[in-house]
Amino acid sequence: MPERLIVAGGLVVDPARGLEAVRDVLIEDGRIAAVAAGLSRKSALKGAPVIEAKGKWVIPGLVDMHVHLREPGREGDETIETGAKAAARGGVTTVLAMANTEPVCDSPSQLAFLRAKARSDAAITVLFAGAVTVGQKGERLTEFAKLRAAGAAALSDDGRPVMNAGLLRRALEYAKDLGLLVIDHCEDLDLSNGACLHDGPEALRKGLKGAPWAAETVQVVRDIALAELTGARLHIAHVSAAASVAAIRAAKKRGIRISAEAAPHHFSLNDDDVPGYDSNWKMNPPLRRAEDRQALLAGLSDGAIDAIATDHAPHGCAAKALGMDLAPFGAIGLETSLAAALTELFHKKVLTRRKLVERLCAGPAALLGLENKGTLAPGADADLVVVDPDAAWTPAVPFFSKSRNTPFAGRRLKGRALTTLSAGRIVHAL
Ligand SMILES: [Zn+2]
Repeated sequence: MPERLIVAGGLVVDPARGLEAVRDVLIEDGRIAAVAAGLSRKSALKGAPVIEAKGKWVIPGLVDMHVHLREPGREGDETIETGAKAAARGGVTTVLAMANTEPVCDSPSQLAFLRAKARSDAAITVLFAGAVTVGQKGERLTEFAKLRAAGAAALSDDGRPVMNAGLLRRALEYAKDLGLLVIDHCEDLDLSNGACLHDGPEALRKGLKGAPWAAETVQVVRDIALAELTGARLHIAHVSAAASVAAIRAAKKRGIRISAEAAPHHFSLNDDDVPGYDSNWKMNPPLRRAEDRQALLAGLSDGAIDAIATDHAPHGCAAKALGMDLAPFGAIGLETSLAAALTELFHKKVLTRRKLVERLCAGPAALLGLENKGTLAPGADADLVVVDPDAAWTPAVPFFSKSRNTPFAGRRLKGRALTTLSAGRIVHAL
């Protein structure tokens, strides 16, 4: 007998199949077996455990293509195990972990170690990016073919940009031959120059150095040119500026193979929301102007932006206590991304239900070439979330993440994951 579970009576939202209807979902041996009405009443399925989802949404598990799990090197801030628990709590069942650990994930042996660790420690699917350059130093390319053979799900130097355009050009050419996605953190370091806020009146008022929007956009535009030159696929991480969104939209219209993601903090918050010198609001790129945020919303709506990704970046309290100018960049996001997206995008009518789920699930799954993720099609992995779209709650400590650096703490959100399944197993239940 197969191991069975039925998720009954929920509003199934599966944009990959154009499905939005009340259905039962039958799970067998960790995979979706059927999505249909009345399954829970079938005599052949009598006795199978049932998760009641009446009045709730049933959506594919979220695919977050941008997280930092800090293992190895900074296990005090996060581990693969705690990051995966935080993800499950937020309805996220697949994550792509970035390579800027200590040491950097730039070799097949490092990848093998991390993948084995994820298999033993993580309750969800943890994928790993390999670094583009050795040690993320921006000098020498890593061995892409060997990284791919060792299971790299993408290539990225995230945390740092690939500043050398010649090197990125060669990276794109090799990655294209191997079918690997290159993800670039777009920041011209000479323009951003270590600044901690957006370069505008708010930074000036606080007496802090700001990074202009152009620090991002000049590199987005450079990357678009290199994607056009090489014909390779290129993905822009954490887009924050209106001019970047416009450049990406125009490039897509010209058929260039570019894609982009936006983070919940960037589409929810502006630079003038930053309370005083609270370093939990310090991230890179920084929160920008209201008009940048509006451009992100428009980009998420019209498809200039393909995916929602958190850039989950845990930092311990000691590091964040160094103050706005010295604290490290980043905020955790796995436990709040679904809620922030529901609050800012769905409830404020920026995105339809179907489009929201597309940007959280099918969109990123497609970018990473994950055919069995981001959908509830029969045969797909039984990664699934029962969502209460109307549950009001306020994120606060304790978090499942080892860190607590988030601008969403104390902020009223509407909607959350009630139950999360990964490969048919319950990995979170509220
Ligand atoms: Zn980054």
